[in-house]
Amino acid sequence: MINIQKVRADFPLISQGAQKKVPLAYLDNAATTQKPVSVINSINTFYETGNANIHRGIYDLAQQATQNYEIARTKVKNLLHAANAHEVVFTRGTTESINLVMQAFLAPRLRPNDEVVVSAMEHHSNLVPWQVLCKQCGARLRIAPINDKGEVLLDEYAQMLTEKTKMVALVHISNTLGTVNPIDEMTALAKKQQIPVLIDGAQSVSHRAINVQALNCDFFVFSGHKMYAPTGIGVLYGKAVHLEAMLPYQYGGEMIQTVTYEQSTFNRIPQKFEAGTPNIAGAIALGVAIDYIQTLGLPNIDAHLKQLLEYATQKLSAIDGVKIVGTASEKSSIISFLLDEVHPHDIGTILNESGVAIRAGHHCTMPLMRRLGVPGTARASFGVYNTLAEVDQLVEALLKVQKIFK
Ligand code: PLP
Repeated sequence: MINIQKVRADFPLISQGAQKKVPLAYLDNAATTQKPVSVINSINTFYETGNANIHRGIYDLAQQATQNYEIARTKVKNLLHAANAHEVVFTRGTTESINLVMQAFLAPRLRPNDEVVVSAMEHHSNLVPWQVLCKQCGARLRIAPINDKGEVLLDEYAQMLTEKTKMVALVHISNTLGTVNPIDEMTALAKKQQIPVLIDGAQSVSHRAINVQALNCDFFVFSGHKMYAPTGIGVLYGKAVHLEAMLPYQYGGEMIQTVTYEQSTFNRIPQKFEAGTPNIAGAIALGVAIDYIQTLGLPNIDAHLKQLLEYATQKLSAIDGVKIVGTASEKSSIISFLLDEVHPHDIGTILNESGVAIRAGHHCTMPLMRRLGVPGTARASFGVYNTLAEVDQLVEALLKVQKIFK
């Protein structure tokens, strides 16, 4: 069980927001989460007492920084249940991780008439890179369709997987609809045909147990900032066999072994993919965020979020004029909705006056909006510090919106 008052006290922005004249209900966690004090302190501590560049120094401070950075990598390895820490590459986030796989893994092997399969609910960052690469290579991007509830049609997805398919890239939890895709089953279907699979775990890693070995995915990507860590740090997990075979993504310092004026040889994995000075403080803080999540316990966090989703679904459904967009049978703590004919941006603006922070728009899923026939949605998304009272605050604010537009 989550001790919600204690959790809220851990997050300065949340506990201070609660003291305001109009208390803040921060319900935009799918965009980014707030940070616990342990994460904030770790950044201060690094710059106050531990700052040095990594992997090159022979003095204590540099060695300590390197050690802390590598400890963070091991924490990610443990979180994902990866076989080895060298399968964990630090990136800027989900978007960079996907671009890395697109350029260093798929680009060299994609041929005309090959196919890449994604779902109809991908975030632009798991759609546009594959779209651009397919165009460049004369390959075809295939979109696994969804039903009106926002669930992938598994039969149609399975039929798309052929010897032409060179990559499958799937979102685990939709940032727009909250749909939890059956990635075990979807990955197994692709792996049966030896098709490489990338999972976009941006919305799942903060509350779902991930086991990349059991899942047998080839790549798993996520961003730190959606799991209570800072912005500018993220992860690419890749099977060692792939990372070793791939060419570097960027060239420069850190990623080399030897350099002459004529040629260079490259470092081992994962350093081969970490050119230049990385976000050392960010990686260490990501490790601290993982500690925080694990101390609370992933099942406890997930249960808390589920309770918020169920309560919000029930409360929002009871408002005449609310239409929930995305009604999959497996849903996570993200709820998209429409209210009468009110534009989602107007909903968001008026909610702001009641201290309720939600997102409005296409949520970086423009093709999904078109598929569902809506211009955009209002979206509330929950984090571990949210309460049922904040859902009530949302509901009251929505009733105000209705009054204004009547
Ligand atoms: N994939 C999903 C499902 C997301 O929700 C997001 C961010 O909203 C991204 C990818 C992109 O993440 P980032 O902007 O941190 O790279």
